[in-house]
Amino acid sequence: MKDNPDIKKVISQHSEIEQFFSGGFAVKGKTPISEPLEQEDNTSAAEKAAELEKIAEEVCACRKCPLGSLRTNAVPGEGNPNARIMFVGEAPGADEDAQGQPFVGRAGQLLDKVIAACGLKRSNVFIGNILKCRPPENRDPAAEEIISCLPYLQRQIEIINPEIIVALGAHAARTLLNTNKSIGQLRGQFHEYYSGLGRPPIKLMATYHTAYLLRNYSQENRQKVWEDMKKVLAELGLPIPEHGKK
Ligand code: URA
Repeated sequence: MKDNPDIKKVISQHSEIEQFFSGGFAVKGKTPISEPLEQEDNTSAAEKAAELEKIAEEVCACRKCPLGSLRTNAVPGEGNPNARIMFVGEAPGADEDAQGQPFVGRAGQLLDKVIAACGLKRSNVFIGNILKCRPPENRDPAAEEIISCLPYLQRQIEIINPEIIVALGAHAARTLLNTNKSIGQLRGQFHEYYSGLGRPPIKLMATYHTAYLLRNYSQENRQKVWEDMKKVLAELGLPIPEHGKK
């Protein structure tokens, strides 16, 4: 029987991921953490959680665009209401649609590893998306869908008020920064996201989407994502874990 090239590719990619994250992104030893991993916020986490829950209920009942009647589950986003870092992706995929949670498929497993490589846990951060429902066949979000859905994310950002937003991929970065620039131009530097009149801008780091990273799994691309995340950690005053092979 002939080897299926797709299966071979998946197996070799998987073992590369393991190597990278054990030799590259894995945290070596314990780094003492003096800075808080979450905000010591004046609005209590419980109040924020209640407001986020209200948004999640609205999202789950939403029919503002046709995606609302195509979904199995809406994916409002989840995580720490006092997160200092908020990750924003594009839209749910098949796994997320099935489970109602963001980033639980292969791209999500890679995001978990990036988060762990930063010395953080998924429970320290908040993870959301531009679109809350899966576009058919994972096609790109349509402009009308973004216009309908974006207010939910904007309200989530306003409530959580993270110190840094990490925009994963071109769709998240372009939407939040209202630009047409490529992810190659946007990544690697801090931009400003304005969450409302009279509120100070929130720093936004754009980086490659983990799904892109899986499709283009080169040392160079992994290194770029790690460089971007190191800037995020430095900006927050968090320790940068030492890794054997970068
Ligand atoms: N890709 C995204 O952009 N978001 C998810 O939740 C999962 C995959």
